[in-house]
Amino acid sequence: MACEYILVGSGRARMEPDLCATPHMQPMRELKTEVLVVGGGPAGSTTATFLARRGRRVLLLERERHPRFHIGESLLPANLPILERLGVLDEVARIGVLKRGADFPAENAPGFNVFRFDRALGDTPPHAFQVRREDFDLLLFRHAGSQGVDARDGVRVRDVELRDDSVVAIAEAEGGETWRIRAEYLVDATGRDALLGRRLGLRRKHPRHQSAALFAHFRGVEPRSDEDAGNISIYVHDHGWAWMIPLREDVFSVGIVATPELFKDRTEPPAGFLRRILDSVPQIRERMANAEMAGNLHATGNYSYLCDRMAGHRWIMAGDAGAFVDPIFSTGVYLAMRSGEGAAAVVDGCLREPKRERALQREYRREVQEGLRALSWFICAPCRGSSCASRRRRCAGCLRILATTSIWRGP
Ligand SMILES: Cc1cc2nc3c(=O)[nH]c(=O)nc-3n(C[C@H](O)[C@H](O)[C@H](O)COP(=O)(O)OP(=O)(O)OC[C@H]3O[C@@H](n4cnc5c(N)ncnc54)[C@H](O)[C@@H]3O)c2cc1C
Repeated sequence: MACEYILVGSGRARMEPDLCATPHMQPMRELKTEVLVVGGGPAGSTTATFLARRGRRVLLLERERHPRFHIGESLLPANLPILERLGVLDEVARIGVLKRGADFPAENAPGFNVFRFDRALGDTPPHAFQVRREDFDLLLFRHAGSQGVDARDGVRVRDVELRDDSVVAIAEAEGGETWRIRAEYLVDATGRDALLGRRLGLRRKHPRHQSAALFAHFRGVEPRSDEDAGNISIYVHDHGWAWMIPLREDVFSVGIVATPELFKDRTEPPAGFLRRILDSVPQIRERMANAEMAGNLHATGNYSYLCDRMAGHRWIMAGDAGAFVDPIFSTGVYLAMRSGEGAAAVVDGCLREPKRERALQREYRREVQEGLRALSWFICAPCRGSSCASRRRRCAGCLRILATTSIWRGP
């Protein structure tokens, strides 16, 4: 369903005083929509699709052009029911690598233990997929378009004003054209850019959990065999952890997570530094003896944070825009899509019954935060144990909590 477009003159656009900070004073397009979703990653495309299915007029804006590189390639079994509800499961299976579990180093004959999804608690599917995010995100974005969302890439939202009766956003399209968008509701799905979290000063960094990541795609990594061919492999090095994710066409995503200090103190170029840390783990050194980088090297901060509020009058956050936790258990895309589905229900409910806005948002926040709390505890638990046995006990306790926390179940 297309949005209403009104091109305002060709002279200088008149703007609200508080939104005058936009750098371009060119012809300005005026747009009106019911819901503006900012960010065309998994959270944004999921929210937009479910809203369009509920009959809402949705404008979805992504600042980059799809397909674009993104980190976060390992999905969880819990993603599959959401992909099915969206109607894209078969297509994801076509672009992905079948992932039956995760493996961790062990002192046994094969050198690793596998946590197989078919032995997991609950009734989640027995497998997941590894995906190139450029393909996965493009698929979700295009699918949103096919479901009636007005999905535009190459358009960056620069500013938003939250009013009592509407939301006004200023966006800049490629080529410098400025758009002024009036919406009844705003969904912030801008990922770790956290448009509203930063703008409203709501982002609270985790005091202890601070790290950075360096990663790239490689060819020539020794694959696992048979049933384990699609596993994600997790390793521990002296300063953090590392991952290996098999993608299509014999490409592996390989990366390290470590303290920011380690990155700051490095003396060699990033590629050599990545290789040195990887080579410090004998099992990785062996598997990567003949590996060569295939593409660019990427670096990112990896700070965990939570926004004090995830929703307010006429706005809501979904995915990383509201919170980010360490990706060690590959939970990011699932949380993004699950919260996107929840956010769509809240926005639709608020537009139908504005008086229930607070109650609907409270329930959304409770569910998202409860899941995140359990997950954070799970991530930190192994670090707290004083012995292997106590760490294992803590992990088992965390698993029980995760299995009984509502964010891990269907809607
Ligand atoms: C090192 C690392 C490894 C990870 N590994 C995994 C993994 O294996 N599995 C997993 O599930 N998760 C992983 N994650 C987490 C995963 O990347 C995120 O949780 C996931 O991408 C969140 O989806 P999202 O839609 O909320 O945000 P994003 O995917 O970041 O999408 C946000 C989109 O918003 C756009 N945007 C931002 N600002 C604007 C603006 N102003 N206007 C318009 N558009 C805008 C961005 O261009 C982007 O496309 C990892 C994260 C890191 C840092």
